[in-house]
Amino acid sequence: MRIGVLGGGQLGRMLGLAGLPLGVQFTFLDPSEEACAAAVGRHLRAAYTDPEALHELARTCERATYEFENVPFQATAELVRSVPVYPPPPALEVAQDRLREKEFFRSLGIPTAEFAAVDSLEDLEAAVDHVGLPAVLKTRRMGYDGKGQRILMAPEDLQAAWEALTGPRTESSPLPTPRVEGLSGGLLAEALVPFRRELSVLAARDSWGEVVCYPVVENHHEGGILRLSLAPAPDLDPALEELAHAYARRALEALDYVGVLCVELFEVDGRLLANEMAPRVHNSGHWTIEGACTSQFANHVRAVAGLPLGSPRPRGWCAMVNLIGHRPDPAAVLRVPGASFHWYGKAVRPGRKVGHVTVCADRPEQLAERLDQLRRCGVPLPARAAAGLFRR
Ligand code: AMP
Repeated sequence: MRIGVLGGGQLGRMLGLAGLPLGVQFTFLDPSEEACAAAVGRHLRAAYTDPEALHELARTCERATYEFENVPFQATAELVRSVPVYPPPPALEVAQDRLREKEFFRSLGIPTAEFAAVDSLEDLEAAVDHVGLPAVLKTRRMGYDGKGQRILMAPEDLQAAWEALTGPRTESSPLPTPRVEGLSGGLLAEALVPFRRELSVLAARDSWGEVVCYPVVENHHEGGILRLSLAPAPDLDPALEELAHAYARRALEALDYVGVLCVELFEVDGRLLANEMAPRVHNSGHWTIEGACTSQFANHVRAVAGLPLGSPRPRGWCAMVNLIGHRPDPAAVLRVPGASFHWYGKAVRPGRKVGHVTVCADRPEQLAERLDQLRRCGVPLPARAAAGLFRR
């Protein structure tokens, strides 16, 4: 079987690695010259919407999938006419629009922060009356890693935030000029959630409708980028974990989904609020390569290829640390017991995810010790890790 993948970054690369033992081959459609997934499959270098490239992908592959959610929806809509595309394109369509995503969660009885659509400065004033302050103003589309967002603390912040995301209004152009590349379809205002922590839940569904859920993970971001995931999330109330799994199941079933789905959540006052979903393998699931019986990548490939899913059971306690614009000495990292080093083969640039380190342990205290060891050999850990993540 050959799977065509829209996107050829590190997620594609790890899908390719997981497919190898299953005898599954890959073609990655990616416009970039340095698509790092090319190391594990064929690189078809063209624009995502290039009709000839899409035709070639459909002709040579038995299934298609995508590895980041900003691929043009049109490319999946085109492909699905001649080859099964998993996850189904409607999942991508919902996930590409933060407003539709929140409405989708609400329609399934999954709670979210208060939100309101914003298409003008007047809308923004009304939205803030509805959601209250502080709030977050976000672009509906194309935002990722915290890009395309502004925090609103006071009524005086509204105009500046609006202009920062849309460009100033002029006489000749009363409509906002999009500042964010690809922005169309306006903005969204949300109540700023005073969360205790951020969590995510990954689940997979196969073509028979069987679902497996991974343990809920605790995530730490800095500058809008994921830095650290702890799996399973320490001290999580089992009732909340059950709820997170129920939410993931509900979303999977509503979309008649096939593949891995990630739902990002806020834990606040003993409740869970859904923030967003990613219809693909996710950075907060990288720990599953070493830390779970079947990795998210293996389960995504299995689901897309029409094979049964494997167990999501964790093998112990794990932490995954992203390497962002920085390469620590792999030898030093690998001397830490239970540590694995993943390098994506990308050029190192500031702010760029170039690899990750996973460390596994039998007990939370042992994991905390190993994280300390990793910090000493140059693996960047968020400030809170220093305070002892497992001794809240
Ligand atoms: P997003 O692009 O929506 O995932 O947002 C990126 C990050 O911004 C999240 O991981 C949170 O840390 C923060 N964030 C987004 N929306 C909210 C919100 N409504 N309240 C508090 N923090 C938020």
